Amino acid sequence: MKSATEILQRAGIVTTRQRVVLLDRLLRRTDHPDAERLLAEARDGMPSISVDTVYRTLNLFAEAGVIQRMAVPTRRARFDGCTDPHDHFLCSDCETIQDVPRPPERSAAIPAPVSACGIVSDVQTVYVGVCRRCAAQKR
Ligand SMILES: [Zn+2]
Repeated sequence: MKSATEILQRAGIVTTRQRVVLLDRLLRRTDHPDAERLLAEARDGMPSISVDTVYRTLNLFAEAGVIQRMAVPTRRARFDGCTDPHDHFLCSDCETIQDVPRPPERSAAIPAPVSACGIVSDVQTVYVGVCRRCAAQKR
């Protein structure tokens, strides 16, 4: 795995300690956190960091393609440190987001009716439902 510093430099983003720490934390997790959760953890080592800074930094990363801002119907924006093509399962009860492999046959072609709407820059598939843990609690 490439280091956060390396990834930022390659993307042409000026590295600051806050940026490196935030990206490093995001790369180490697979739970697709929101900015508040990252902020709570980042405050450990950087007590003065603000929620605005975290949002601005995450949006900067997303625009540079370093992370993915997720297209999910959750209360707060969620972010994914993994930019390799993959899909997601979102639990509508607990808002847990799990990674799902993308079927290879779907990754290639953009359907003609979609291209007719405009130029596609990103495709994200989210399966929304109730996760196994929440379903078990309901029984
Ligand atoms: Zn993911």
